[in-house]
Amino acid sequence: MKVVIYSSHGFDRPYLETALSPKYESVFFEEKLDLHTAQYADGAGAVALFTSDTANAAILEQLHTLGIKYIALRSAGYDHVDLVKAKQLNIRVANVPAYSPYSVAEHAVAMLMAVNRKIVLSQKLMDIGDYRLDLLTGFDLFGKTVGVIGTGNIGAAFARIMLGFGCTVLANDPSKNEALQNLGLQYVSLDEMYARADVISVHCPLNEHTSYLLSGEAFDKMKKGVTIVNTSRGKIIDTAALIKALDAGIVQAAALDVYEFEKAFFFHDLRGQRLQDELFLRLRSYPNVLITGHQAFLTKEALAGIAATTAGNLDSWGSAGSSENDLW
Ligand code: NAD
Repeated sequence: MKVVIYSSHGFDRPYLETALSPKYESVFFEEKLDLHTAQYADGAGAVALFTSDTANAAILEQLHTLGIKYIALRSAGYDHVDLVKAKQLNIRVANVPAYSPYSVAEHAVAMLMAVNRKIVLSQKLMDIGDYRLDLLTGFDLFGKTVGVIGTGNIGAAFARIMLGFGCTVLANDPSKNEALQNLGLQYVSLDEMYARADVISVHCPLNEHTSYLLSGEAFDKMKKGVTIVNTSRGKIIDTAALIKALDAGIVQAAALDVYEFEKAFFFHDLRGQRLQDELFLRLRSYPNVLITGHQAFLTKEALAGIAATTAGNLDSWGSAGSSENDLW
């Protein structure tokens, strides 16, 4: 079967080539899937998509017309696919539900530590010969209260690390993880978490319930001086409201691996071009906001896991017509 792989970059292509060959004829494109590039899938049975791709109703119709039967997502999140439409068109969709949750959890910790201990600023100062410490004071995580929204694979790994740091860990999730509770994690309402947490880290999926979960109303309930970490999905935070909360000093610092309008430019080489996104430029102007370009998953272990499960999903469709990771 021919598989068209969209949004493939230097970092993931070797892993996908190894996992898919020689069984599949893989054709790689750096471009993301859109109404125009959908035509690249002509003659294929499956497409493999990344978070930067969009499979909305119109694009799915087009893929269906071209004969696509399977969509293998190279991600855990599936908010970029219209699953209702895919089901109507009988296009199977599977994700990679779990691949090294440590990749994302450890990046969240790295970002939290970097923004708190001002690691980036310290390097910039050293680059210009300024060895003073006056701008670099952080806080101990030991003894602080950390809120975790979503204790699935990644949130649980993050919570365990925070417990290991000696933090009080509060969590909110409709399904409870008993093993974490046995380690001392407490499930609380969001309002209680907002009132008590010194750090809040987001690990729930993006859906109709979590879109703009962290809005102006939520920020107003938070303890003054909270640090926000988001390695989940950009749209879970209302960026304009975050900016207001930063200006008001409610949010002391933010560490963001995702941004609500990231699809327009993350993963692309825009060197020499002026970025048009004023909201993002504003966010970047804050010395207490650390942003990475959706790279939390980027470890060798995660890339190998994503490629292996993508190939496994295609194998299952070929042999049984369904896969254990099917989303409908
Ligand atoms: P998971 O499905 O294992 O866990 C998600 C958890 O969120 C579940 O326990 C679920 O019950 C909980 N949840 C759902 N709705 C909630 C709500 N309204 N409030 C609180 N909790 C809620 O998923 P995971 O593997 O831990 O991944 C979490 C998210 O991380 C993904 O959905 C994806 O958006 C994001 N992600 C980001 C990257 C990255 O590179 N930045 C990589 C992988 C995943």
